[in-house]
Amino acid sequence: MITITAEKFAKMYVEKNPGEKFNEVKSNLKAALSRKKAGAVCGNCGEPIWAAGSAIVGFDGCFTCITGESDHSEDYEVYE
Ligand SMILES: [Zn+2]
Repeated sequence: MITITAEKFAKMYVEKNPGEKFNEVKSNLKAALSRKKAGAVCGNCGEPIWAAGSAIVGFDGCFTCITGESDHSEDYEVYE
């Protein structure tokens, strides 16, 4: 995964999705990240959650369960 701040991820996300609100996306990201740091796991398989994806889709899941893919080398994860 490519690690990125919640701030930068939110900025990129709203640029691609003009209907979304920057502050809302950023606070969802921060909330998902703190759940991850607290040990939240995917409700489906028990792997650590993918904070960036969980914030966007609205439920806590790992990368594979959210996207159906296993290669996450080009995807982003927030770290702060
Ligand atoms: Zn999973």
